[in-house]
Amino acid sequence: CGIVGYVGNDNCRDIIIDGLKKLEYRGYDSAGIALIDKGSIAVRKQKGKIENLERAIAGEKLYGTTGIGHTRWATHGVPSDENAHPHSNQDESIAIVHNGIVENYVELKEWLMAEHGIHFKTETDSEVIAQLIGVLNKGCLEDAVLAAVDKMKGAYAFAAISKDEPGKIVAFRKDAPLIAGLGKGCNFIASDIPALLKYLDKIYLIENGEMVICTPEKIQIMDQKKNPIKRDVLQVTWSL
Ligand code: GLU
Repeated sequence: CGIVGYVGNDNCRDIIIDGLKKLEYRGYDSAGIALIDKGSIAVRKQKGKIENLERAIAGEKLYGTTGIGHTRWATHGVPSDENAHPHSNQDESIAIVHNGIVENYVELKEWLMAEHGIHFKTETDSEVIAQLIGVLNKGCLEDAVLAAVDKMKGAYAFAAISKDEPGKIVAFRKDAPLIAGLGKGCNFIASDIPALLKYLDKIYLIENGEMVICTPEKIQIMDQKKNPIKRDVLQVTWSL
């Protein structure tokens, strides 16, 4: 339902939680966050309000300069801690957040179980994205994302991080909203503008069939064949 991602030099834990709160108006049943810290990905997720998540991580030194967060509106799988996003793959090297529906998830799930021995941890359609990227990853996250998208049907926007490529978020849009935001020494992705207005006023609107790769230095938009796309910056003139 709501997606926020940050890549930069600051600890993004509170930045992402703040962004998720700005998307609360859309409604949700669970919330979660994934941060890359010292070569591994920490995932924390809770059913219920964002405050539940905040309470759960309050005493923790959760740190990361690359992270993604999500508020979920369940479509496949009951609202629960396990089914909340982010979802990770088998060896927890990849984490994703996803809005929308992967229509052929049953078929993909069966293929991943039969051909790759994947053991699914949740009832969601979304976990398929994490497991697919995990299986298809040959060391370049954007290539794995495109290979996964090739196999996926449905309407979705998702963002992925890899523990092996810290300092990078890769997101893809197909019939669900996605934007990228230009910060100072940092960059963002989100499902809607209010999530980012506290930090920036320059955004790119990502269109269907486009992938966006964010690092602290730059935002690259590409089509599914990795052709670069030039997009004008949208100057946001309103504030919250
Ligand atoms: N279909 C996914 C799920 O049920 C994503 C729902 C959403 O957009 O929040 O977990």
